[in-house]
Amino acid sequence: MMTPSDKALVPFVSVDHMMKLIQHIGLEEMLKGLADYIEADFRRWELFDKTPRVASHSEKGVIELMPTSDGEDYGFKYVNGHPSNTKDGLQTVTAFGLLADVASGYPVLLSEMTILTALRTAATSALVARLLAPKGANVMAMIGNGAQSEFQSLAMKAIAGVDEVRLYDTDPAATRKCAANLADQGLRVVSCTSAEEAMLGAQIITTCTADKQYATILTDNMVGSGVHINAIGGDCPGKTELAPAILHRAGIFVEYPEQTRIEGEIQQLDPDHPVTEIWQVLTGQAQGRTDDRQITLFDSVGFAIEDFSALRYIRDKITGTGLFLPLDLLADPDDPRDLFGMLQRSKTQN
Ligand code: NAD
Repeated sequence: MMTPSDKALVPFVSVDHMMKLIQHIGLEEMLKGLADYIEADFRRWELFDKTPRVASHSEKGVIELMPTSDGEDYGFKYVNGHPSNTKDGLQTVTAFGLLADVASGYPVLLSEMTILTALRTAATSALVARLLAPKGANVMAMIGNGAQSEFQSLAMKAIAGVDEVRLYDTDPAATRKCAANLADQGLRVVSCTSAEEAMLGAQIITTCTADKQYATILTDNMVGSGVHINAIGGDCPGKTELAPAILHRAGIFVEYPEQTRIEGEIQQLDPDHPVTEIWQVLTGQAQGRTDDRQITLFDSVGFAIEDFSALRYIRDKITGTGLFLPLDLLADPDDPRDLFGMLQRSKTQN
C-alpha cells in the first residue's frame, strides 16, 4: 500500500475535532484568542488581497466563496446562507475553509468552519463593540435567538463587558433554547416577548435574524440615542434588518465597504453614503464613537480576513493536540513529473 509523504498530508479539523479543541481551550478563551488574531490582521489590512466574496444566489439562499491572502498564507471559505433550511431541520449557515502556503501553493489546513464561523463572527462583533459601544455598556438585547446567538452573547461577555442579555425571537422555542443554553454561563438572561422589551435598558443591540427579504427588525422609533447596534443578519442582497431611517441617524462602521455596499444594511443607502472602516478605527486613522449620544452601527456582513484569521488561529492551536486527521489530499509522486507512473504503480501495489 502506498503512503503519502508527510509534506503531502494536510491536517483536517473535523466538526468533532473542532468541538474538542473548543473544550480543550475553553470557549471564552478561544473567542478572546480569535478576537486578538482578527484585530492583528485588521491592523495590517493594507497588506491583504481583498475582494468582495463571490456569491451564487438562488431563490432559497446563497453559496459563497471568500478568498484572501497576506502574501504568505492564502485562505478561502465556502459558506452558504439558506434561511428556509431551518424548517427542514438543516442549518441556515454551514461552512468549511482552507489555508495554503503561498510560496508552494500547498494547502496546510482544511477545517470545518460552521462552528468556527459562529465563533469568528461573535469575536468580530465583540471586538467592534468594545471599540464603539458607549462606556460602561453591560446590557445587550439579542434579537434573533438562532444558531449564532449564544456565541454572540458569550463573546460580548468575554470581550466587551456585557453581563446581561435580553433575548427575543419571533419563535418562542428559539428563545427557550437560547436561554437554556446560556443558563450557568455567568450572564443574567432575560427572555422577552417583544423586541421593544428586549431593548429596555440595553446599550448594545444585536440583530441576528434570518429572512431573505428587506425585513424591519428595528424601526426608527425603537432606537434611542447613544446605543451601539451590532447588525449581523443583513448580509446579502435583498436581505436587511434595519429601517433606513436608523441608518441616516447612525455613524456607520463596516468591514470592507466594497462588499458591505452590496450585502449590508447600507445597500439601502446611496452608494456614496459615508461609512468608516473598522481597521482605520483600530489603527487610529479614523475616529470611532464621536460622543455619548451618537448611535454607532456595525453593519456586519462577515469578511474573508476574519476567516483567514480564524484559520491561522486553528493552525497555530492544533499543534501537539492530536485534534486533526492527516488527510491524503494531495497527489505526491516520488518524481513530481511522474504522476502517471504513480497511478500505474498503484495497480500493482494495492
Ligand atoms: P438561524 O436561522 O439559526 O436563526 C435566526 C433566528 O432569527 C431564528 O430563530 C428566527 O426565528 C429568528 N427571526 C427571524 N425573523 C425574526 C424577527 N423578525 N424577529 C426576531 N427574530 C426573528 O440563523 P443563524 O445561523 O443564527 O444566523 C442569523 C443570521 O446571521 C443569518 O441571516 C446569517 O446569514 C447571518 N450571519 C451573519 C454573519 C456575519 O458575519 N455578519 C455570520 C454568520 C451568520
